[in-house]
Amino acid sequence: MSKDIYIVIEQRDGNVQKVGLELIGEATRLAKELNQKVVAIIVGNKVASKSDLLFHYGADKVIIVEDPILKEYVTEPYTKALTKIILEFEPEIVLFGASSIGRDLAPRVASAIHTGLTADCTGLAIDPETKLLMMTRPAFGGNIMATIVCRDYRPQMATVRPGVMKMLPKDDTLSGEVVQYKVDFVPEDMNVEILEVAKEDKKRVDITEAKILVSGGRAMGGPAGYESLRAVADVLGGEISSSRVGVDSGWIEKHRQVGQTGKTVRPALYIACGISGAIQHLAGMENSDFILAINKDESAPIMDVADLAIVGDLKVIVPKLTEAIKKAKAAKVVD
Ligand SMILES: Cc1cc2nc3c(=O)[nH]c(=O)nc-3n(C[C@H](O)[C@H](O)[C@H](O)COP(=O)(O)OP(=O)(O)OC[C@H]3O[C@@H](n4cnc5c(N)ncnc54)[C@H](O)[C@@H]3O)c2cc1C
Repeated sequence: MSKDIYIVIEQRDGNVQKVGLELIGEATRLAKELNQKVVAIIVGNKVASKSDLLFHYGADKVIIVEDPILKEYVTEPYTKALTKIILEFEPEIVLFGASSIGRDLAPRVASAIHTGLTADCTGLAIDPETKLLMMTRPAFGGNIMATIVCRDYRPQMATVRPGVMKMLPKDDTLSGEVVQYKVDFVPEDMNVEILEVAKEDKKRVDITEAKILVSGGRAMGGPAGYESLRAVADVLGGEISSSRVGVDSGWIEKHRQVGQTGKTVRPALYIACGISGAIQHLAGMENSDFILAINKDESAPIMDVADLAIVGDLKVIVPKLTEAIKKAKAAKVVD
């Protein structure tokens, strides 16, 4: 019989990626409702030392697959390892991060074990009556949110966007069961030859890590508009980000885009300046802890998710806000 929620932990160069820890946090919540356990699977070369970290973030059990063939991510051997584990342990649910690796791996695994996969979820819940996993994701260009269930096949599988789920606070006292799982790889499992690994420029800002984001939209009018946002972001120690309009217009870099086709962010403070709040934008920021909207249209949809709104022209409001924060900081009213 199928049981337990399995999380496929992504690691790069042996470093556990945050999305895996977020999924352990979410799985812990779901597992309570099912009265089941959370099992983390980590696949790679020399990754056993990471099991403690996975326990500290809430995993009850860790399955480790280690082999030199798994040093770099390659679809075929990773698929083989996961398929074998899933067929042997028969999990009820398997979750992957919707990263470039997860988006490649999860459909291969789902197809190999003949089950369904809901990609790019932004919400997960357990149906109280059927105990099925309800997997919610934007559909039809983001105009509706679709909730999908996998009734007849097991495991129920989903990929979840990084930054959507909350990780649990780290607890160094937690531990659990470790299973070293052996997969017999043969040379034919490696169907590609890695000639070179080219790393992305690390200096690029990761807006998903920012505690404060000041975000601009169409009303910025050009790259110079974002400079006024940079001033507020700097005094607050935050970063600037954007709606898709600013990115498509070439006013700001793509990696700063928030939303369905950009990044999902969850900062402590999100300041939306001249952003209407289209559903595709909200999908990427509505879980921010506190949302301040600055918009001249008091009926803009962003107002529905804002904790606080300033209605008026941002060209007037943003410089005043920057000055007010500077003064408050100088007077030590705020840190
Ligand atoms: C498949 C698909 C995926 C998409 N993915 C994304 C995505 O990832 N992220 C995203 O953001 N969008 C995405 N979009 C686009 C989305 O539908 C909207 O078009 C976009 O978010 C609108 O951006 P905006 O709010 O900057 O502009 P607008 O909707 O034009 O809003 C501009 C706002 O600025 C206000 N304003 C104007 N001047 C001022 C001023 N002087 N002072 C104060 N307020 C002012 C206006 O009142 C208005 O509310 C996607 C669309 C599709 C179809």
